[in-house]
Amino acid sequence: MNRKVIIIGSGPAGLTAALYTARANLNPLVFEGNQPGGQLTITTDVENYPGFPEGIMGPELMEKFRTQAIRFGAECHFKHVTKVDFNARPFKVWVGDDMFTSDSIIIATGASAKMLGLESEKELMGYGVSACATCDGFFFKDKKVLIVGGGDSAMEEANYLTKFASEVKIVHRRDEFRASKIMIDRVMNNDKISVIWNSSIKEILGSKEKGVHAVILEDSQSKNTIEENCDGVFMAIGHKPNTDLFVDILDFDSAGYLITTKGSTATNIEGVYACGDVQDHVYRQAVTAAGSGCMSAIDAERYLENN
Ligand code: NAP
Repeated sequence: MNRKVIIIGSGPAGLTAALYTARANLNPLVFEGNQPGGQLTITTDVENYPGFPEGIMGPELMEKFRTQAIRFGAECHFKHVTKVDFNARPFKVWVGDDMFTSDSIIIATGASAKMLGLESEKELMGYGVSACATCDGFFFKDKKVLIVGGGDSAMEEANYLTKFASEVKIVHRRDEFRASKIMIDRVMNNDKISVIWNSSIKEILGSKEKGVHAVILEDSQSKNTIEENCDGVFMAIGHKPNTDLFVDILDFDSAGYLITTKGSTATNIEGVYACGDVQDHVYRQAVTAAGSGCMSAIDAERYLENN
């Protein structure tokens, strides 16, 4: 059965698009992907989503998003899209060998924070390890935290973390930052921040019960290791938008994000819309993703009305 709208992705953007298109009687089909609920499902407390003054756990918030979309008729499937073809109409979307067609597509595949790839990092994610200072900085009041990276994000997040933490140390693998000068100056002028140069984290020590208490650092030149005490570790080594499906199909910016028309969520193919982190490397918040998901739904609805 040809659909009016297929939504790829199920973070705040995808599920908000699902809610709005469902309420517009478009009977959306949502493919939730490999990480149903998106990045918020790997955080613990979310305290900056409006409407939840007491805060809410990330996975619980996303379950509410899903329940609300389903209530109005969205069909959500725990399936991962493997291929798309937007050359002809209706558009084609594959999940393995199964093909689905749709008159419009909303892409909400999000982005993934790059991680170091350590087992301990995976295990302690949300328990002292975080990839989002804006989300989790608050939990480190008067604590010592490390931040990994040497780009603008690491500088920005290091500064942000000093609002809460008593001490912030930036761990960088080289002896110079790639961040812009103004961001570096801010960091260097902040008394609470210091830098551990030429170092990489080899292990994060802690437990889910007690959180993080230290990391093992390796000097990139001498390969000597030391233990550095800390209460939290923030990764700021970049994000990767989840766009593999759309290579050679849609337009990307130089950082690899999908390009949407200013003031809308339209991509370079009429009838295909993109919302949330896959097209936003500036704000990257649940609430802004949800807002752009709503925009995509309205854009798709108008497109369908006019065609
Ligand atoms: P980025 O510029 O790609 O920097 C990533 C940093 O992480 C680099 O310093 C890199 O080290 C380090 N890194 C990467 N992989 C690593 C690994 N496996 N282990 C240890 N370190 C690793 O990413 P970003 O800082 O997220 O910035 C992304 C884009 O957004 C940039 O264009 C940036 O200018 C922009 N941005 C702008 C602002 C602002 O202007 N307010 C704020 C945030 C981001 P190397 O340097 O050795 O490669």
